Amino acid sequence: MSGLYLHIPFCRQACTYCDFYFSTSKDRGGVLDAMELELIKRSRELGDGRVGTIYFGGGTPSLLEPGRISTFIQQAQDLFRVERDAEMTLEANPDDITAERLAEWKVGGITRISLGTQSFRDERLKWMGRAHDARQALTSIDLIAKAGFKTWTIDLIYGLPEMSIEEWDEQLTIALDHGMPHLSAYCLTVEEKTVLAHQVKKGGVHMPGDDTQSAQFDRLMERMDAAGLDHYEISNFGKPGHYSRHNTSYWEGVPYLGIGPSAHSFDGITRRWNLSNNAGYVKALNERTVYWESETLTPAQRTNERLMTGLRTAKGVDIAKLEVDALRINSSAFQQHVSNGSMRIADGRLVLSRAGRHFADRIASDLFVTDDDR
Ligand code: SF4
Repeated sequence: MSGLYLHIPFCRQACTYCDFYFSTSKDRGGVLDAMELELIKRSRELGDGRVGTIYFGGGTPSLLEPGRISTFIQQAQDLFRVERDAEMTLEANPDDITAERLAEWKVGGITRISLGTQSFRDERLKWMGRAHDARQALTSIDLIAKAGFKTWTIDLIYGLPEMSIEEWDEQLTIALDHGMPHLSAYCLTVEEKTVLAHQVKKGGVHMPGDDTQSAQFDRLMERMDAAGLDHYEISNFGKPGHYSRHNTSYWEGVPYLGIGPSAHSFDGITRRWNLSNNAGYVKALNERTVYWESETLTPAQRTNERLMTGLRTAKGVDIAKLEVDALRINSSAFQQHVSNGSMRIADGRLVLSRAGRHFADRIASDLFVTDDDR
């Protein structure tokens, strides 16, 4: 069973912290037509053709006419064996949500809405360069909750400059009061070549320290635990039955096909990524030239990916599936993280403790191997 990802590379405006590939052009038809062409061209790449999840990400897929989303779904159903109960997620921004559009997405096959809420405070949304305001965030959540999707989720950002623990608590209370079954909460990070990076470099913005961000992560875990949302991945919390199946597949190394500019694909051994340039992508598709790069992962790289993604999940890493014995090769780092309580082995899996989740990426990289280690 595989996943299908469609990258819709358009946004209304640029958020200051964002480093995803998108364009603010209103001329979208050429890219969407080229994506349909790519889908047809690559329809044999998915093994037995069984698709369990379809994910429209971006960019801002909710900017498209709902009919265009249902056309992609129909096309996928014609080309692949899409499971009857497939999860079909649409990323949407609050400024695109209306009861009518929600109904059209649902009729077209969407089962899950992922709402880019980010904050319930106007001044924060403005600072981030978001196109919506707090009222739209709240109204859209209410509309989604009533629309009858199988499930839905919202995104929130913490670790903002001068964010107090009280402000973060308030954000979580608002979200929980609106009955969300799933939350993705991300700590603000400064990515290179973003407006935010420029602001920080110039001294106009001061990012909070690690201790402040860490305290907010602790509060997040406490609040979600008390509300009955499982912490199933570092940034993701869900009620039972509401976990993201698509993202869980990524973390478990399941193959997926990525369509659209900048989209990534993985067949279990080779990673492939498309050109991050709309015009170049369209031209290459139409002229049948190459629009991607690829890399075949070595056993050490596959081991490191399993450590990096698996340690972020509550299920942890199946040690028997590691192709290179990372725990023996890095035994002193492994022993150190076990003895300081960051990590343990349970039922043959390497799992982080609550304290260890603060340093998941660092712990994973301490266990990394090289092909020379084998
Ligand atoms: S809407 Fe999403 S993808 Fe678009 S600029 Fe903002 S954060 Fe990036």
